[in-house]
Amino acid sequence: MNNLASDCLFCRILEKKVPSKKVYEDALCYAFEDINPQAPVHVLVIPKKHISTTLELAEGDNALMGRLFQTANQIARQKGIDQRGFRLVMNTNPEAGQSVYHIHLHVLGGRHMHWPPG
Ligand code: AMP
Ligand code: ZN
Repeated sequence: MNNLASDCLFCRILEKKVPSKKVYEDALCYAFEDINPQAPVHVLVIPKKHISTTLELAEGDNALMGRLFQTANQIARQKGIDQRGFRLVMNTNPEAGQSVYHIHLHVLGGRHMHWPPG
């Protein structure tokens, strides 16, 4: 038994059963281009461990969550949007618009972001 959920799209991406455009990878995290980008830069950063929503986060995941944010910063620098600005979003459950139940940090940038979000 591993920590991948076979019916989870992002676990299938981690297993390379579904293709993705890799942006970054290390032992704990994977980042790839969003298939339906909502901004000139739209990258998803996911933990390699399957966690379905932020509500499932445990004490032991605190360092992992920090790593997701550090990775997002690194991607923002790499894409040249760090100083202009970028938005990090993690949607939880249907009303927030979560459609894939494997937590993912959206890294959005390259255009002016509106507030409040839609
Ligand atoms: P959310 O709606 O917050 O759960 O975000 C899910 C994101 O995953 C959306 O922005 C989708 O465009 C993106 N997505 C869905 N399928 C794929 C895929 N096969 N490869 C890359 N991104 C995907
Ligand atoms: Zn998963």
